[in-house]
Amino acid sequence: METIEKLRNTHNLTAQEYKSLLINENSDFLAVLNAQARDMTVSIFGKDVFIRGLIEVSNFCKNNCLYCGIRAANKEIERYRLSKSEILDCCRHGYELGFRTFVLQGGEDPVLTDDLMDDIISTIRSEFPDCAITLSLGERSAASYKRFKASGANRYLLRHETFNQEHYSKLHPAGMSRDKRLECLAGLKDAGYQTGTGIMVGSPYQTIDNIVEDLLYIQELKPEMIGIGPFIHHNGTPFANMPDGSLELTLRLISIFRLMSPAALIPATTALATLSPDGRTRGILAGANVVMPNLTPASRRGDYSLYEGKASTGAESAEGLAELKKELNAIGYDVIVHRGDYDKNYDRKCIM
Ligand code: SAH
Repeated sequence: METIEKLRNTHNLTAQEYKSLLINENSDFLAVLNAQARDMTVSIFGKDVFIRGLIEVSNFCKNNCLYCGIRAANKEIERYRLSKSEILDCCRHGYELGFRTFVLQGGEDPVLTDDLMDDIISTIRSEFPDCAITLSLGERSAASYKRFKASGANRYLLRHETFNQEHYSKLHPAGMSRDKRLECLAGLKDAGYQTGTGIMVGSPYQTIDNIVEDLLYIQELKPEMIGIGPFIHHNGTPFANMPDGSLELTLRLISIFRLMSPAALIPATTALATLSPDGRTRGILAGANVVMPNLTPASRRGDYSLYEGKASTGAESAEGLAELKKELNAIGYDVIVHRGDYDKNYDRKCIM
């Protein structure tokens, strides 16, 4: 308990201290950790939950990450790429529903050139001057990151997945490296993005010591956004038979990250909601303050299959905003119309 206290007060722990938070099996301990993190979130953001409209722009990918369902070698999914006008239609629809952040996520699709993305981002920027644009398009050059920032993007999500080099190489094919990933993240920070990173909890071969390394890396990097979701197997990947990550460990990590980074934007992820029907609300009650409903055209959602059973309907969909609102209201929280930038002095506004 003193370690929770120390993290809450100093936002900084040693490896050994983080490890003690991860392995404590006392059930009261987890409840206290979750409650302390929840209180920290409420003291900064109130009971407001930010929403981001997720637009899955392309499921073409040149990579072969071993965990991911849209890896190039998976021949079982139909590939699609949204056109510029389809993406703009998603934004228009999302804006009407109350979204003020659009997240453009996709595989590493060579057809999404810098010129094409520049054009799409600039158009969204001029049509929606009051909205934030978040990108999640994987590894690109420092020059492209800078160019997209100049076109009007504000934030970038790129999980490092795991800090440990050996573990990284068990999750990714030869040709991808942990160092390259960290270099990209440094490039994003340098370009001035609100930068997000994070890990999959329970990814194959992950150890508690690996997670400690992730905690220390994030403590040092100080990203504005931290994405933590359980690993969930996909049948079309080499990890088809690997066990899924744990809900409890994911919640534990959300709470640790909240106490480490009080003002960070931390989503209750789709993977958490997929793993368990109450995953989303439990994520919020463990200290998360963001949800990312799906704004992708419904006909394409099934093909953006990162893992089995990925939720994209009901409260996980943009059309299901009323359902999400009801679900959050039931635990005393509210969805709000707000860009929700990283801001140490966040001020509550615009309750929906
Ligand atoms: N290609 C981009 C964005 C798409 S993947 C990128 O790699 O950043 C977005 C995130 O989905 C990844 O960072 C990964 O952490 C998560 N993901 C992929 N496969 C998953 C799986 N099987 N289970 C849980 N999360 C997964």
